[in-house]
Amino acid sequence: MSEVHERIAADLDECAGLADDQLAHAVRNRGLCGWLSTSGEYPEWTGDFRSDQELAARVCAACPVQRECLEWEFRTRGHATAGVWGPLPEDERRAVYECWEERRDGGTVAGEQA
Ligand code: SF4
Repeated sequence: MSEVHERIAADLDECAGLADDQLAHAVRNRGLCGWLSTSGEYPEWTGDFRSDQELAARVCAACPVQRECLEWEFRTRGHATAGVWGPLPEDERRAVYECWEERRDGGTVAGEQA
């Protein structure tokens, strides 16, 4: 775990008090991927894993609900997180997840939802 992973995990503390349905609502209603998909403006997938991963990461990087998305992913998928969400690739996200889990399990975060 690096300092960057720790910082991203700490940045999610502000979502700790949000209920799962609040997170889901934020992602479904304000997530950039949903907006682009609905409007037909989602970038064309190339079929090449690396290129598509970079494409997805660029979309996520401009999304206004990155924190909510990542928090929701960690709560629902945990270490099994897959794909590009929020906008980190899997290996980076798993490293952040370990920091996130430690903060939550260690009781570092106040206002956490059960
Ligand atoms: S962070 Fe990415 S995957 Fe999550 S809602 Fe935003 S665009 Fe979609």
